[in-house]
Amino acid sequence: MAPKSCALCKKARAMLKRPKTGQQICRDCFFFVFETEVHNTITEAKLFSPGDRVAIGASGGKDSTVLAHVMKTLNERYNYRLELFLLSIDEGITGYRDDSLETVKRNQQQYDMPLKILSYDELYGWTMDAIVEQIGRKNNCTFCGVFRRQALDRGANMLGVDHIVTGHNADDIAETVLMNIMRGDIARLGRCTSIVTQGEDTIRRSKPFKYAYEKEIVMYAYFKKLDYFSTECIYSPDAYRGHARAFLKDLEAARPSAIIDIVHSGEAFEVREEVKATQKLQQTCQRCGYMSSNTLCKACTLLEGLERGMADAGITDRARKRLEAEGPAPENLRTIPFFRPTTTPGSAASTVEVAI
Ligand SMILES: [Zn+2]
Ligand SMILES: [Zn+2]
Repeated sequence: MAPKSCALCKKARAMLKRPKTGQQICRDCFFFVFETEVHNTITEAKLFSPGDRVAIGASGGKDSTVLAHVMKTLNERYNYRLELFLLSIDEGITGYRDDSLETVKRNQQQYDMPLKILSYDELYGWTMDAIVEQIGRKNNCTFCGVFRRQALDRGANMLGVDHIVTGHNADDIAETVLMNIMRGDIARLGRCTSIVTQGEDTIRRSKPFKYAYEKEIVMYAYFKKLDYFSTECIYSPDAYRGHARAFLKDLEAARPSAIIDIVHSGEAFEVREEVKATQKLQQTCQRCGYMSSNTLCKACTLLEGLERGMADAGITDRARKRLEAEGPAPENLRTIPFFRPTTTPGSAASTVEVAI
């Protein structure tokens, strides 16, 4: 049988079957459609303006490595005129993050982008290794997630960037939609498919891979021979997400469009005004100046629990009450350095520039 020719260019031999569409295409056409779809996502959502300084949240894993490569390619091909940076958070996980950071350092050379690494140790005085030593493996993902979010904003602020892009892909978003449905978290369900998020005083964040399939990201990295780190975090994974993930993989096997269909379903949900009204107003953390829906931000609450040897205090209300019953936080408590957004010089009240 003669080799099948590419369904797009009709010239070259088909080398792969596109996971998203089932089309049999050649390698060059795959690169081009993959990149063009990301470009379309970027332009349709008007993610950037010329001259923007953009940090790529880089973990050394496949998603962020492909993102760095594609952002560089599109920036040059379509003359976005963006100034690109790599921003990595060092959670302090021996045997995992130390190795993946070596990958990011090589990416810095390969892509010729400035790199900023900010560590939990530097910012919070705790590495994940030390946190897990105190709290065990049960809630460590809560600490890591809260600490990472704030660290990314602070790292971006140190770089003086306008915008952070992350490698979240369509599979990640579809999983989150499913999790929010299963938990009945309607407020989050309403927000989780947004391509751009921005809280008060925080830097604009977006997901250019929102419609990109994980399988295609892996394929892209493989055919482009990109240098990435593929080990999973050594501490316990998010078990609940694991269920959503397994379910999604089953759906995808039966019908590949399931992933994009779930993302579109998530986008189509309308959150009732009453639900929106129950969302707490954003304010600023009294202790560290970061945005928060309470007087103390989540990271400060978690850190206080760790410092006072009652790590649960940031997790359950009961433990929090127990901590409060012990009296106020000691004067010499270790705290997170006060956050002063550089994008709003002189005034914490003024807002960050609005999306176009
Ligand atoms: Zn082709
Ligand atoms: Zn705080």
